[in-house]
Amino acid sequence: MIVVMKPGAAKQQIDHMIERIEGLGLRSHVIVGTECTVIAALGEKRDGAKQALETGEGVDKVVPILAPYKMASTEVKKDRTRVEAGRLQIGDGRIGVIAGPCSVESREQILQIAHIVREAGAAGLRGGAFKPRTSPYSFQGLKEVGLQLLAEAREATGLAIVTEVMAADQVGLVANYADVLQVGARNMQNYPLLEKVGESGLPILLKRGPSATMDEFLLAAEYILKTGNTQVMLCERGIRTFEDHTRFTLPLATVPYLHQHTHLPVVVDPSHGTGKASLVATMARASVAAGADGLIVEIHPDPEKALSDGYQALTPPAFVQMMADCRKVAQALGREM
Ligand code: PEP
Ligand code: MN
Repeated sequence: MIVVMKPGAAKQQIDHMIERIEGLGLRSHVIVGTECTVIAALGEKRDGAKQALETGEGVDKVVPILAPYKMASTEVKKDRTRVEAGRLQIGDGRIGVIAGPCSVESREQILQIAHIVREAGAAGLRGGAFKPRTSPYSFQGLKEVGLQLLAEAREATGLAIVTEVMAADQVGLVANYADVLQVGARNMQNYPLLEKVGESGLPILLKRGPSATMDEFLLAAEYILKTGNTQVMLCERGIRTFEDHTRFTLPLATVPYLHQHTHLPVVVDPSHGTGKASLVATMARASVAAGADGLIVEIHPDPEKALSDGYQALTPPAFVQMMADCRKVAQALGREM
C-alpha cells in the first residue's frame, strides 16, 4: 500500500505514520516527491491495515500498489530516478554512455581504450575482470589484477568504472575498485547476490536475464531496492528467441514499457543484443530514439585479437562515429547526451 500524505504534511505526522506502519509489522519506505510525500508500506497483506492507516493525521489517502514490484514502480515514485557515479549521469533527462572492452586484457589495452572512450565523450568505462564465460575453457578474466588496471584507467581519465561481480562473496573485493557494480544476465535471479550488491551502496547496473519477463526483471531490481539502495539501472541486453541471425534478439519496446512502469533508468546494450559489430551502431541510435537513458557498448582497438566477444566490438573510429550519430538523434528529440 501507499500512504499518500497531504501536501505540506508535518514531519511529525509523517514520523507518526511510519511508526504506525511498522507497528502493523510492515516495512516503511518514505519518498519525498515534488508535490507530496508518500510512504510505501511493504510486506504481507494485512486485513484491516488500509483502514487503520487511513485515519492517520495528515493522510490524504491509502492506495494499494497493484504491481508485484513495489519500490521500483511508478505507482510509488513518479519522479524519475537519476543514477550518478562520478561524471556518469544516467536517467531523468540525461543520456549516459558506458563503453570499453568486453574483458580487461592488459594495461596497454585498457588505458588505450579508456582514453578513446573519454575523448569520444562517454562518461563510463566498462571492462570485465571476472568473466561469466559459457565455456570453462574460455578466458575467465584477469580478476583482481583486472580491477587494479581499471582503477588505474579511472585515475588516468576520470571515467566511472563499471564492472561485473559474479558472486556474493566477491562483492567486497569488486566494490573496492568499481564505481558501478554490474550484475550480469546470467545472475539476474541470483537473489543473495542482488542483496549483497544492494548493501554495497554502490550504483548497480542490472542486466536482464535472456529469458526473464519484465515482471521478473523488475522484481530482481526490487531485491536491490529493498536493501535501501535506490541507485539501480536496468539494462536490456537481448533475449533468447528462435532467431539465429543475431546472438540475442534485442527488444527495444522494453524501453518505453519500462518507462511506463518504473522510474528507474533504462540502459540498452546493443553489443550483446546483436552480437554483430555491423549492427551495433544502428541499434544504438534506435535505442536513443526509443528513449533509452543510457548505452553500454563494447569496443576494442583490434577486435580480431580480443580475448572475448571480439565479433561484436566496435573499432575506435566506429565508436566515435556512433557517438556523433547518437548525439544527433538525442538533440533532435531535445535530450542531452
Ligand atoms: C558483458 O557485459 O560482458 C556480459 C557478459 O554481459 P551479459 O551479462 O549481458 O551477457
Ligand atoms: Mn561481452
